[in-house]
Amino acid sequence: MADQANCIFCKIVAGTIPSYKLYEDAMTLAFLDINPGNPGHALVIPKAHAANLYASADKDLAAVMATVRKVAAAVEKTVSPDGLNLLQANGPGAAQSVFHFHMHILPRRNGDELKMNWGLKPGDKGELAALAVKIRANL
Ligand code: AMP
Repeated sequence: MADQANCIFCKIVAGTIPSYKLYEDAMTLAFLDINPGNPGHALVIPKAHAANLYASADKDLAAVMATVRKVAAAVEKTVSPDGLNLLQANGPGAAQSVFHFHMHILPRRNGDELKMNWGLKPGDKGELAALAVKIRANL
């Protein structure tokens, strides 16, 4: 897992490597993903390094979401997609490849065949209810 010193997104924040910057404020930065799933695919990050959701401060997450809405609206206006997904990965099993928290803003096209790494299969209702109790207990 990258630490602050060799984190590629920290280097983008510091300006030591280039990015296709879209927006910046005191706490967040938005730039285009260099491997876009579709045109307009953007990333929003907190300037403060945190590897993933669990390590992130509430104030950074709140700031990121405000920027996500601002940038997503601009992406929508710019590329007029048929829809737009917000995505965020935690851990290699979820296909996280950069260990600095980021939200993907991913414009979608009808029939673009972009796939997440899971299928839509209804869960067992009893298991879902029991798990909900356990997760609530951990909040
Ligand atoms: P994830 O798989 O959720 O960790 O997403 C990381 C994303 O960062 C990938 O979609 C990469 O294409 C993107 N990425 C990696 N390096 C850069 C970079 N230097 N500038 C912009 N996007 C990048």
